[in-house]
Amino acid sequence: VTAPERIALVDATVATMVDGPVPYGLIPDAIVVMAAGVIKAVGRREDVAVPAGAEVRSLRGRLVTPGFVDCHTHLVFGRHRAGEFAARLEGASYADIAAAGGGIRTTVEATRAAGEQQLYEVSRRRLLRLHHTGATTVEIKSGYGLDLDTELRMLQVARRLAADGPVTVRTTLLAAHVVSPEYEHDPDGYVQLIIETILPEAVRQGLVDAVDVFCEHLAFSPEQTDHVFAAARRHGLPVKIHAAQLAPGAGLAVATTHRALSADHLEHATESQVEAMAAAGTVAVLLPGATHMLQEAKRPPVAALRRHGVPMALASDLNPGTSPVADLALVCNLGAILLGLTPEEALAGVTRNGATALGLGDRGTIAPGMRADLAVWDVSHPAEIVYWVGMDLCSAVWVGGVLSFDRES
Ligand SMILES: [Zn+2]
Repeated sequence: VTAPERIALVDATVATMVDGPVPYGLIPDAIVVMAAGVIKAVGRREDVAVPAGAEVRSLRGRLVTPGFVDCHTHLVFGRHRAGEFAARLEGASYADIAAAGGGIRTTVEATRAAGEQQLYEVSRRRLLRLHHTGATTVEIKSGYGLDLDTELRMLQVARRLAADGPVTVRTTLLAAHVVSPEYEHDPDGYVQLIIETILPEAVRQGLVDAVDVFCEHLAFSPEQTDHVFAAARRHGLPVKIHAAQLAPGAGLAVATTHRALSADHLEHATESQVEAMAAAGTVAVLLPGATHMLQEAKRPPVAALRRHGVPMALASDLNPGTSPVADLALVCNLGAILLGLTPEEALAGVTRNGATALGLGDRGTIAPGMRADLAVWDVSHPAEIVYWVGMDLCSAVWVGGVLSFDRES
């Protein structure tokens, strides 16, 4: 679908999310002009001319935000883990569940067993749900294959989702999620397989936009993380890290040395680690869906992140074990209630800062020259998106200047 030549959205309330003195970059009674998939102008009615021949659509006062960016998901996976969820509620610990053969290993088995078409279909449903709740760009990680074939298949499914549209998909190789069961007694051998086989083949097939490592005592050491990151950078790929979820560890130091795009989770991050993130330009990605589902008491150091000016992104972490959440408006609510973000910080987390966490400078705000990725909401003030719970307030979405979802049609 190609974008119409010129479209003007009039009678709109626009939260541009441009960082500045005006909260939310809010413009009442605004006009947004898009052409050829790009924002051409945005401003008050009296300051923006509607171009001759433009298709004019009135939003009747409704709110427009940048299309949401979900910068951390594991949405390609074989099967839910509701049984384990029920067991946890009845008192089973994580260790009990792992001992009974549950946990991430269950998802690896189910994902390995699923065919490409089956994985595609279940994943597409999850992606479209994110889209219908405002997302226009979604990152998808591998990491439930832990062998060459399945890691590639997950990324191929992600690329196929991208090709079928409308959501822009960015792929991340997370073969270093946990040690593959075949290498249980030889973790370094698995790291070698990633560096020498999985990563080069995924790159050769054009399947990778970034590389991620889960750096915790249950997964990979700082040294192993460093080796994977060095390999990623030899291929010209940016890196991201899952770190400080269970303990401060040394993963964040490795990530900042490699100028990671983002460091994700961060519940146990220390002040000096936060300072290093600020210096390296690494975005903090916070995942309140996991805080909620795990009833996790330890919260990321939001005050320190603010003090050091580290941009905070919020993401769904959509995955079967710890965050079966496919709605970024709900994630904003959880970020406000559980992590103490202001509604404005929460919305910046799923727009401007989510885009930065993916290294995408062409989206996340509404300003001339940015991609025409927009979400329209049945509210009059942006704080309402964060305030209402489960209200399904997204009424339309534009991706690259094309109307891709319209509740009214
Ligand atoms: Zn994750």
